[in-house]
Amino acid sequence: MCHGCGACKLACPQDAFVEEEKRIGVIKKGRTSNLEVYFGILEITEGTKTPRLVRKVKEYIDEGINILDSPPGTTCPVVETVRDCDLCVLVSDPTPFGLNDLKLAVEMTRSLSLEPVVLINRAGIDERDIKRYCEEENLEIIGEIPNDLEIAKVYSQGELVIEKIHNYRKVFEELGEKIIKKAEEKKVPKKVEKRKIEKITKKDFSSSKKLKEIVVISGKGGTGKTSLVACFSALADKDFVFSDCDVDASDLYLIFSPQLEEKGYFIGGYEFEIDSNKCKGCRKCEEVCRFEAVFKKEDKYFIEPSLCEGCGACSLVCEFDAIGKQKKVCGEYFLASTRFGPFSFAKLFPGEENTGKLVSWVREIQTYLGEKKRKEKALSDGSPGLGCPVISSLAGADYVVVVTEPTVSGIHDMERVLRLVYHFNLPGAVIINKYDLNKKLSDYIKEFCEVNNIEVLGEIPYDENFIFAQKKFLSLVEYIDDKTTEIIKGIWKKIYSYFKDAHLSL
Ligand code: SF4
Ligand code: SF4
Repeated sequence: MCHGCGACKLACPQDAFVEEEKRIGVIKKGRTSNLEVYFGILEITEGTKTPRLVRKVKEYIDEGINILDSPPGTTCPVVETVRDCDLCVLVSDPTPFGLNDLKLAVEMTRSLSLEPVVLINRAGIDERDIKRYCEEENLEIIGEIPNDLEIAKVYSQGELVIEKIHNYRKVFEELGEKIIKKAEEKKVPKKVEKRKIEKITKKDFSSSKKLKEIVVISGKGGTGKTSLVACFSALADKDFVFSDCDVDASDLYLIFSPQLEEKGYFIGGYEFEIDSNKCKGCRKCEEVCRFEAVFKKEDKYFIEPSLCEGCGACSLVCEFDAIGKQKKVCGEYFLASTRFGPFSFAKLFPGEENTGKLVSWVREIQTYLGEKKRKEKALSDGSPGLGCPVISSLAGADYVVVVTEPTVSGIHDMERVLRLVYHFNLPGAVIINKYDLNKKLSDYIKEFCEVNNIEVLGEIPYDENFIFAQKKFLSLVEYIDDKTTEIIKGIWKKIYSYFKDAHLSL
C-alpha cells in the first residue's frame, strides 16, 4: 500500500529507512496505421502508483493532436489523465449505471476547470434520462453511437470498427472533426458548488468477527460484474451481508434500493496548505514533494490539492512552520438494509483519492454489520482494474470470482487480475460473460483456465435483458426467468458449493 512518498524516511530520527529505486511499470511505443501509440503497463502489485505512470505516459504528448484514453471512474489516475487537456469527452451508456457514472465524471471534470462534452454510446436503448440530464446541466451531446452488436463483435477481436464496418467510417470521421473543433473552443466550465459538509462524527466499526467472504472482481470495467453481483445477491440466502467496493463508481445501490440506516463522512487524510505570510520561499517543500504538487506562481508557493497525496513530507522539511494541515473529507459511507440483506457502500467524492482506504472502510463496516445482524457470509462487489481499491477489495477474501468477457482487452486484463489474485494466494474462479460475442476467444479463455487449473464457473450469453432489468432497478433474476437466468443460477450454486475449498494456481 506504500505510495513511495518518502515521508517516513524524513521523519525517522535513526535514519533507519533504506530507499531503493523500484520499477513500477513499463512504457511501450507502437504504431497503428498512421498513429503513434504510447501506453504504460503497471506492475500488477503497484496499483497505488498508477497516477505516476500516467504522468510518465503523458510526457510523450507532442504538439499535434493527442488522444488520451483515460481509465474509468473519477479517482486520481483519471484526474491525472484529464488534467491540462483541452477537451474531455465523456462516453456514457443510456442506462441507470451509465447515467450515475456520468454525473460523477461531469463533477470531476468541472472541478478541474474543464467543461466536458458527452458521447452517448449504445444509443437506441432509450436516451430520455441521459438527454434530460444533459439539458439540465447545459452539457453538449457531441454524438451518438448506435447500440449495434456488430460494433461489440469487432471490438472483441481488437479490430477498428471503421475498418471492418464501412458505414461507420463517415460517422467517426465527422465525430472526430467535431471533437477537434470543440477542443479549440475551450468553453468555460459551469461552476461546481462547494460541497456542504455537515458535522463530522468519528465512528468505530471495528469487529472481532470474521465473515466468510466472496469477492467479485473484473480486470476491466464494462464486463457486467455489478449486474452479476446483483443477481447473486438476489439468489443468496438470508445469511449474507453485502458491500459495494466500487467506491468511485458505486452503482450497485441503484439495484439494491437501500433503506439508509446510518451514514457518515470518510476522512481520507489531510489536506495541506502553505501560509504565504509565513513562507520564506526556500523551495524545500517543492524539492521534497514527489507528486509535483508544490507550485510557484507570482512569487508565491502553493499546493495544488488535486495533486497532493497528503503525505506531509513538505511540512516535515519546512523550517518556518508555514505549511498547515486539516482533515480532508473524501467521501461518504452508508449502512443500509435492503430486500437482500444488510448492505454497506460508499461514494468517493469525484476527483478524490484514498480509494483503497475507503474500500477497507466499507469492508470493515460490512463485517460490523455481519456481527450486528448475526450473519456469517459476505458478498462484495469489488473494484474493477488492478489499482489499490482492488487490492483492498481482495484483503481477507475467502473466494474470488473474476468476471471476464471474450475481447482482446478483456483477456489481457483477466490474465493480469488473476496474477494479482494468485499473488495474494486466494482461491478463485472465472465467469465468461457475453461469451457468444466471440466464441473463439471464449475458447481461448477456457484453454487458458484449464492450463492454469482455474475453474470456469460458466458462460453467460450477451443479453440485452440485463439493461431492461437495470432500467427497472432489478437484478436480471428478479426481472425474468429464462435460459440466461438458469445459467446464472447454476453458477451461483457452484460458487456456493466451492466456497470453502476451490483451488487456483497460475
Ligand atoms: S519549505 Fe516552507 S518556507 Fe520553504 S518554500 Fe516551502 S512553505 Fe515556504
Ligand atoms: S504537497 Fe502534498 S504530496 Fe507534496 S509533500 Fe506536501 S503533503 Fe506530500
